Amino acid sequence: VAKKKGRNQYEMSNADISAGGFEKLLIENNLRRALENDELSLYFQPQVNLKSNRIMSMEALLRWKHPDLGMILPGEFIPIAEETGLILPIGDWVIRTACHKMKEWQDDGYPPIRVAVNLSAGQFLQNDLVEKIRNVLTEVSLDPTYLELEITENMVMQDVHKAIDVLQQLKELGVWISIDDFGTGYSSLNYLKDFPVDTLKIDRSFIYDIDKNPSSVALTKAITTLAHDLKLKVIAEGVENYKQLSMVKQFSCDVVQGYYFSQPLSYDHVVRYLNEYQSSKVNNA
Ligand code: C2E
Ligand code: MG
Ligand code: MG
Ligand code: MG
Repeated sequence: VAKKKGRNQYEMSNADISAGGFEKLLIENNLRRALENDELSLYFQPQVNLKSNRIMSMEALLRWKHPDLGMILPGEFIPIAEETGLILPIGDWVIRTACHKMKEWQDDGYPPIRVAVNLSAGQFLQNDLVEKIRNVLTEVSLDPTYLELEITENMVMQDVHKAIDVLQQLKELGVWISIDDFGTGYSSLNYLKDFPVDTLKIDRSFIYDIDKNPSSVALTKAITTLAHDLKLKVIAEGVENYKQLSMVKQFSCDVVQGYYFSQPLSYDHVVRYLNEYQSSKVNNA
């Protein structure tokens, strides 16, 4: 599909452009009904602490099961949701559903872990974001310490002072904050010391070729050192194999997320994963 390359990257023939435009319109029209029709769901990908070998958290990742088109990944529809403003109701649904599910699993007796939720710029800039989050946490009665919000560098750089204010309010609420895709956006390192965040997530593009590309090694090491000096935790994203795992471990990354440990899991598979995890913990005890 044309959109795979990112929506700002097509410069092709007229036929391609109209096909892309048509596809976009189709997605937009269908997305409007996706929420009502119950076509959206969340998958959860475990994040494993390398020191304790324990699952610390899971990232909630949005999936759209379209009745005719099948599974559509967020890269295909989140940009359209952002352009059309649909990201606001969708984002509200994601936060509520992620918190609700986590609370349900805790009530079922699984060891409490955090759920990490991605925010879009439009959501982050809403004036009532903090209030919305407070309300969801109260309604669902999830302890705020089990919610983590993932933002990106570009989101905070748009209006640094407002961002610091919002982040401070979120920290006062007790939720965790991480900077996603770190190293790929436009951030000023100078501001990092003023942002009340907890975690930097090293972008997958650096981990992808870490065993072949000295620049990726240098960046991963530098981000890890920077984070630790600022008393932040570091997550390596997109770890797929043992080689990558052993390298990020050697560089003292704290937490790993990636196919090596698990793909994003549906609700049923999360429960299965947590069951196995619980029994392996018992076996190791
Ligand atoms: P992200 O937040 O950086 O999420 C990580 C992405 O990397 C996910 O893609 C995940 O499936 C993928 N991934 C994890 N481990 C590996 C690995 O080992 N190898 C490879 N090749 N990929 C791995 P996904 O689920 O397609 O999501 C793509 C992006 O869409 C996310 O990137 C995030 O920016 C956005 N997104 C997903 N869900 C939401 C949501 O609920 N709200 C918003 N605003 N954005 C979302
Ligand atoms: Mg993320
Ligand atoms: Mg990321
Ligand atoms: Mg991202």
